Amino acid sequence: MDKAALKRFAKGGDDGKRSDLPQKKKLNAEERKALAKLKFEAKKRGATLHNGGEGGLPPSLVWHILRRDKFECKACGTNKDLTLHHKGGIVGSKWLSKQGHKTTPENLVVLCNSCHSKMHEEAREEGVDSSQVLPEGDKGDPRRDHGQPDAQPKK
Ligand SMILES: [Zn+2]
Ligand SMILES: [Zn+2]
Repeated sequence: MDKAALKRFAKGGDDGKRSDLPQKKKLNAEERKALAKLKFEAKKRGATLHNGGEGGLPPSLVWHILRRDKFECKACGTNKDLTLHHKGGIVGSKWLSKQGHKTTPENLVVLCNSCHSKMHEEAREEGVDSSQVLPEGDKGDPRRDHGQPDAQPKK
């Protein structure tokens, strides 16, 4: 992971909201279908998904982002062990850390799990990871990078 890539993905969206508690929601029929489609498409492409594509974000959104990013890590190009990263999860300021969990396509990017960990490690070393830099009064779990979606994505 080069510094340029780190910088590139360190930008959040605009006004974000951070969700508070992770809630395991049951998938509705539509999302279950999206998950099946997601797994099928990954298999077809020879790609593998970290957590089998079930990291907590709505499968329909994951599907959208993976297709947009061509089922490959935008940092190293592999298609193995893919995960989604909230760009705003790496922050330069308290204000920006609010972007960390904004679950919109603009704030999400496909990375492999290895680049993802490296990126957060480097960010932590530099003190710009959202797990270290929290806005005043933020009661979120500081160890958590990826929150649950704030809302269902608009169709
Ligand atoms: Zn990678
Ligand atoms: Zn991340």
